[in-house]
Amino acid sequence: NKRIELASRPDGMPTLSNFKLNTVALAPIEDGEFLVRNQWMSVDPYMRGRMKEVDSYVPPFQIGKALEGGCIGVIVESKNDRFAEGDLVLGNQGWREYWKSTGQGVQKIDPELAPAQAYLGALGMTGMTAWVGLKRIANIQSGETVFVSAASGAVGSMVAQIAKANGCNVIGSAGKQSKIDWLRDRAGIEQVMNYKATDNLTEELGKLAPDGIDVYFDNVGGEHLEAALQHMNDFGRIAACGMISTYNATKPPAAPRNLFQVIGKRIRMQGFIVRDHMEDYQEFMRDVSTLIRSERVVWEETITDGLENAPNAFIGLFEGENLGKSLVRIS
Ligand code: NDP
Repeated sequence: NKRIELASRPDGMPTLSNFKLNTVALAPIEDGEFLVRNQWMSVDPYMRGRMKEVDSYVPPFQIGKALEGGCIGVIVESKNDRFAEGDLVLGNQGWREYWKSTGQGVQKIDPELAPAQAYLGALGMTGMTAWVGLKRIANIQSGETVFVSAASGAVGSMVAQIAKANGCNVIGSAGKQSKIDWLRDRAGIEQVMNYKATDNLTEELGKLAPDGIDVYFDNVGGEHLEAALQHMNDFGRIAACGMISTYNATKPPAAPRNLFQVIGKRIRMQGFIVRDHMEDYQEFMRDVSTLIRSERVVWEETITDGLENAPNAFIGLFEGENLGKSLVRIS
C-alpha cells in the first residue's frame, strides 16, 4: 500500500523534501470492516496548518505517518453489512492507495448525480464552505455587493456564482489573466481584478466598488482584507473563511493595518469552519444541485495524475497553479 507521509515540517513554503512516498503492508480486513481503493483525493490549503506542530481545530499531522484528507474510492472487499463491494465512498483517508474502515464517518455517494470527484468539490466540503459562508455567516441579500478573494479557486468560484445566482453584484480577485478570463467567460462574473497586476490593491478595488462592499468573503487575509475593510459599507459583514496569504508566513503579516474600520463602520466579522454546519448539508445539496442543473453554477477541476505527484499538487495551491478544485487522480 503506497502512501505519502510527512517527512519533516515545512518552514515557510512547503517543499517536496517535506513529503515521503512509502510502501507499507496492508493488514487483512476483519468482520465489520471494508477495504477501499482510492480513486481521487483532495489537496486543500488547510492541510498546511496540520503540518505545523500546533493544536488547532484539527490535530497536527505526525512525522513518519501518512497525511490525511478528503478522498473518493471504491470498495474492493467488504465484511460489513452496510457497505458492499463496488460501492463508491467518500472518506478522509487520502494520500494513500488503500484504506480500511468500519464505516464511521464514511459516506456512500451517488455517481448518477454528478461525477464522483464532484463530491470533493462543488457538491462536497468546498461547495458547502461557499454556501455556508454566504448564507449562514454573511446572510447575503439580493442587491448587495459581494467581494470574494481567490475567486477562481475551489471555494471562491462557488462563492462568486452562488452570490450572483442570489441576485448579488459580485466582485472577484485572482492572480492570473487566464483565471480572470474564466471568471468572465465561464462564471459570468464581470467585475474582476488581477491582484498581481496592481501595486495598489485598495485603489483597484475602489474602482470596481464605487458604491462600497456589503459582504467580503475572505479566502486570503493580509492585503486583501485591508483593501476590503477600506471599502466596506456601514454594517457590512465579513465571512472569514481562510487567510491563505499567511499560511506559509515566517513572520506576522503586515496587513491589515486598518482593522479599526470594523468599529467605525459597525462591521460584523465572523470566522467559521464548515464542519460545524453539517446539519445544513441537505439544504446545501438541494440548493446547489438546482443551481448546477440550471447551469447557473459551473465548476473547473485541475487534475494531477498519480499519488506520487500529490505533493506537487498541494504545493501548487500556494503558487496559484490551480483553477477551480485541485484534485489528484490516484487510479
Ligand atoms: P483554492 O482552490 O482557492 O486554492 C488556493 C488559491 O489561493 C490559489 O490558486 C491562489 O489563487 C490563491 N492564493 C495562494 N496564495 C495566495 C496569496 N499569497 N495571496 C493571495 N492568493 C493566494 O483553495 P480552496 O478553495 O480549497 O481554499 C480557499 C480558502 O478557503 C483557503 O484560505 C482555505 O483555507 C479556506 N477554506 C476554509 C474552510 C473553512 O471551513 N473555513 C474550508 C475550505 C477552505 P490566485 O492565483 O488567485 O492567487
